[in-house]
Amino acid sequence: MKYLSTRGGMAPLEFSDILLEGLAPDGGLAIPESIPAISADQLESWRTLPYHALAAEILSLFVTDIDRPILNQLTREAYRTDVFMSEDIVPLRPLYGGMFLLGLSEGPTLAFKDMAMQFLGQVFPHVLRERGATLNILGATSGDTGSAAEYAMRGKDAVAVFMLSPEGRMSAFQRAQMYSLQDPNIHNIAVKGNFDQAQDVVKALASDLSFKAKWHLGAVNSINWARIAAQVVYYFHGWLRATTGAGQQVSFAVPSGNFGNILAGHIARTMGLPIRRLVLATNENNVLEEFFRTGVYRPRVAAQTFVTSSPSMDISRASNFERFVFDLVGRDPARVKALWDELAEKGSFDLSAYKPEFESKYGFQAGSSTHHDRLATIRSVMDRTGMLIDPHTADGVKVAQALVEPGIPMIVLETALPAKFSEVIEEALGHPAPVPAGFEDLESRPQHFTVLPCDVESVRAYITAHATI
Ligand SMILES: *Cc1c(COP(=O)(O)O)cnc(C)c1O
Repeated sequence: MKYLSTRGGMAPLEFSDILLEGLAPDGGLAIPESIPAISADQLESWRTLPYHALAAEILSLFVTDIDRPILNQLTREAYRTDVFMSEDIVPLRPLYGGMFLLGLSEGPTLAFKDMAMQFLGQVFPHVLRERGATLNILGATSGDTGSAAEYAMRGKDAVAVFMLSPEGRMSAFQRAQMYSLQDPNIHNIAVKGNFDQAQDVVKALASDLSFKAKWHLGAVNSINWARIAAQVVYYFHGWLRATTGAGQQVSFAVPSGNFGNILAGHIARTMGLPIRRLVLATNENNVLEEFFRTGVYRPRVAAQTFVTSSPSMDISRASNFERFVFDLVGRDPARVKALWDELAEKGSFDLSAYKPEFESKYGFQAGSSTHHDRLATIRSVMDRTGMLIDPHTADGVKVAQALVEPGIPMIVLETALPAKFSEVIEEALGHPAPVPAGFEDLESRPQHFTVLPCDVESVRAYITAHATI
């Protein structure tokens, strides 16, 4: 399997090469030259596999330059039952009204980002060891990616993490998770801006090719293809747990921001997994919902990006969206490049000509949720099932419940546990979320981070002064 750029300006590369790069040199995103197809028989043969073995089967289709026994070892290490709080790694639980919850948040940082990041924490050190190389991971987080990356990479050889986070915009629990890490290879940088602005700084430094080469910069943001590939696995797992035989369809509802999670669903569906609908849920920052409603993609500037009670979805420029558009326009890189040039120039582009295909060909439906909806959904799920869901998952449930079809399980992806967003739970229910075992003293641990202006030169200077590998 070779990888190309969505904008056409990259010679075909192996998985291990794109693993260590962020954006393609032409500013596009790495994409497999073709999407592997899975037959119904193959799918049935995976029904009883434990999660790590299913992960090895699926990842081996995308990772063809790592020997299979090694890949088996990497996934076995990544998806261990003593690292995840569930025996099945990703538990499927019934909700009500035809809905199910797929628990993606049983990992060390209590959010779905661990699903991919735990694999990266194995595959990065492996590839670096093979190549005798080192890597400074530069990333931006709206809260959950950063902690997942730091917990996956802490104490690992040959890797350091420089993580930008938007000062004052994460929950107390999220801040404590990241900033309480003491490992010398972890650098927390709180920037005075929002997530999109922090991501712009990362993109600017990653596209400065001489700086990138000099400091061995790499990325673990959701643009990293390895994350998407690792996320494809849980769509297969969810389908295998929700069905009993070949050809049965399920739908997935996905709380969305950067379009990374649902893109993995789109890939799984393209591979032949019987997914009927991919339901995209946004919060008040509804750029993606607007796209699927109108066909016009109009990212918003920082001043028009709201701070909401599902903060990990406070994203107005979805970095992975380009990979979906690549498929939408018939995998035509020249067209993608023209669209992103138009975006840079005009601030929007119009694909309404493709609108009839969004649902009929790609299965996409979309909806959005508000603060009021979120609180009401947390309360009604509690009343009806006794289960406590987090605000992002509540956005998913709110949008999903209006789109359930008879006889088709609607699997809502649980993207975080409520303890991460206890402030919102308290507002909804009048009491805080229970704290999982091992996290009781988290918020009282000493915190270490550096505050910087949200500009390229400040971050460049910090990396130059602090990169040790
Ligand atoms: C990252 C995140 C999302 C959004 O996922 P994308 O892949 O960016 O669309 C939703 N919920 C939670 C809790 C997250 O951490």
